[in-house]
Amino acid sequence: MVKQTIQIFARVKPPVRKHQQGIYSIDEDEKLIPSLEIILPRDLADGFVNNKRESYKFKFQRIFDQDANQETIFENIAKPVAGSVLEGYNGTIFAYGQTGSGKTFTITGGAERYSDRGIIPRTLTYIFEQLQKDSSKMYTMHISYLEIYNECGYDLLDPRHEASSLEDLPKVTILEDPDQNIHLKNLTLHQATTEEEALNLLFLGDTNRMIAETPMNQASTRSHCIFTIHLSSKEPGSATVRHAKLHLVDLAGSERVAKTGVGGHLLTEAKYINLSLHYLEQVIIALSEKHRSHIPYRNSMMTSVLRDSLGGNCMTTMIATLSLEKRNLDESISTCRFAQRVALIKNEAVLNEEIDPRLMIKRLQKEIQELKDELAMVTGEQRTEALTEAELLQLEKLVTSFLEDQDPESRLEVGADMRKVHHCFHHLKKLLNDKKIFGNNTVSNTVSSESKDQDCQEPLKEEEYRKLRDILKQRDNEISILSEVMKKLPLSWFERCKQEEMSLGRQEAFEIFKRDHADSVTIDDNKQILKQRFSEAKALGESINEARSKIGISGNMAVPLMPDQQEEKLRSQLEEEKRRYKTMFTRLKALKVEIEHLQLLMDKAKVKLQKEFEVWWAEEATNLQVNSPAVNSLDHTKPFLQTSDSQHEQSQLFSNKSSGGWEVQGQGTGRFDVCDVNARKILPSPCPSPHSQKQSSTSTPLEDSIPKRPMSSIPLTGDSQTDSDILAFIKARQSILQKQCKFTSLGGSSRATGHQCLWGAHGEVGGE
Ligand code: ADP
Ligand code: MG
Repeated sequence: MVKQTIQIFARVKPPVRKHQQGIYSIDEDEKLIPSLEIILPRDLADGFVNNKRESYKFKFQRIFDQDANQETIFENIAKPVAGSVLEGYNGTIFAYGQTGSGKTFTITGGAERYSDRGIIPRTLTYIFEQLQKDSSKMYTMHISYLEIYNECGYDLLDPRHEASSLEDLPKVTILEDPDQNIHLKNLTLHQATTEEEALNLLFLGDTNRMIAETPMNQASTRSHCIFTIHLSSKEPGSATVRHAKLHLVDLAGSERVAKTGVGGHLLTEAKYINLSLHYLEQVIIALSEKHRSHIPYRNSMMTSVLRDSLGGNCMTTMIATLSLEKRNLDESISTCRFAQRVALIKNEAVLNEEIDPRLMIKRLQKEIQELKDELAMVTGEQRTEALTEAELLQLEKLVTSFLEDQDPESRLEVGADMRKVHHCFHHLKKLLNDKKIFGNNTVSNTVSSESKDQDCQEPLKEEEYRKLRDILKQRDNEISILSEVMKKLPLSWFERCKQEEMSLGRQEAFEIFKRDHADSVTIDDNKQILKQRFSEAKALGESINEARSKIGISGNMAVPLMPDQQEEKLRSQLEEEKRRYKTMFTRLKALKVEIEHLQLLMDKAKVKLQKEFEVWWAEEATNLQVNSPAVNSLDHTKPFLQTSDSQHEQSQLFSNKSSGGWEVQGQGTGRFDVCDVNARKILPSPCPSPHSQKQSSTSTPLEDSIPKRPMSSIPLTGDSQTDSDILAFIKARQSILQKQCKFTSLGGSSRATGHQCLWGAHGEVGGE
């Protein structure tokens, strides 16, 4: 059993603006416990009526300043926890802090760079590395990912990808058994046998988390996400199984209401916005007070789920994330105060071992048999009845696998039954006579009788080459699997679903939306990096093949007899190539993980972009339907779009359609500005241009069926496909009008001259 208080760490996020001097200082004297001092600037401190303190000091296990990177955080905080999980203890790491302080960044990672990956992916990598190194046990990993919002649990690992809101995900409920153990009904556990599978699950969950979020529910700030790694281990032959759970928790934002009280009580404890965090705090207070018998775990789902992590069988670590800017000082101080209380909680982690009854029975049966055999031997009671066919066959199999076993320590276990012992010897003799033992070893026949020394060594050499060949074969397989992955560049599910037919107008609007979206830079950057990594992987693959063929050649050449020196040289060459091969192979493996991670990051960014576009498109469709032309040109904003200027203008593009034609000014910045052309001048009596005539002759029935009138009066159906067709039609029509407008205004309006029509290049209706 390990008794331990909850470990608390602090991480300071780099400020958005330049470093604000003098707000905090970190004291990390080697001998003392590190402390963080938050210093109130004069103007803030003066505001306190009752509290004249000007600085606050908090102790932490360690404090990570702004420049601490993700690797440092993992090495110092998560690795030790992952280590004890591998040993069979439960572990929890939770991030606590106000919204924007870096909880998600710390737990999951940033969405842009590979180096920004957070604790979860790094822990998965680490655990799989360790599992590979440890051949003494058999491990099984399962993963679950739970989101708790508003006291409801949702399974983020729902693979259907149909969720457009949290409510579409399977609901998870809590069940308590008579022993008061918590069970989560409907939360799926997915087995992960490789790091890749585990990472895919993480990204599936994160994608669901993102899709399910709407501006209304603000899930990311108000919900808790718990990523759990369930690890079981067993030694071969042992009946004892160890189960350990590692919870990696991204809590809801810890911000509170009543930031500044009317009386200026800036730093008084205000109420949490999030009720379940309030219950978490109550649990923590109860746990940190001695002699409290009742701990109110049951008040909220989150405290029920994390019950063992808080005051139970778990090694728990808290990361207080701090955004130490002037306006956040009160929240930062609250976070630190919370951490100080958490640090008082003592947990008792025990090894979670249990005996697997089936294995136990098997073991006992074996033991009984052995004892019986021994007894028979000691009492001299010999069995005389003949062994059955099946028993004989079984014994022969045992002999074969004994002979094939490379382990010099391996034993042939047949018990103390002399009938069996005799049969084994008999079978061995037969094999020896048939020369099956040394397989196709005919070396001894070919070597002259003078070279007796070599005679003894040849089987060994042969054995060595055989081993090498096997390793090569195995590596070959691994490489071909790796290169398959490289080749594939998987067409992920959402790309497939995004490939569903988009109408032309929608497609164009999406292209523009995409171009002006802040994330497109990230996507492009990542594409570049991906390209680089791919070519690096390709080059490595080629070098590996080269090294492999060299190993292969040297291996084959070594069989004929060589003078000692030459053989020695060849051997060292072989060793060198093997070393090179190994290094390159390791690098290729790391590259593969990075490439997959980058692909998943890009996939996620694309889903996000698509999602934001859908929201915007739907809104535009509604506006088009509802707004009158007069209102249109005046009042329209898009709060959720990110690049303010261009996207505001884009939104105008759609909302103003009802007033008629549009023009786009090329600004030479790679961006288009859209401005309203005096539509009333252009709309009436469209004068047919050759182009427009051609268009109308190939027009669809839909186009014909819609009367030419101001678009605001065109009703939309609510069905996205149909509506997009209608909008596409409108767009095409505008395109024609645009061309006419250009045509008519060439001589007259200088305003229109030189303007480029947004839709002009794409204004074909055909096929829609
Ligand atoms: P929270 O989850 O606490 O609301 P986030 O993790 O989403 O906060 O962080 C808010 C923003 O700050 C994100 O854009 C994130 O990438 C960035 N960020 C947070 N912590 C760091 C850090 N240590 N280094 C660089 N950027 C960070
Ligand atoms: Mg977050």
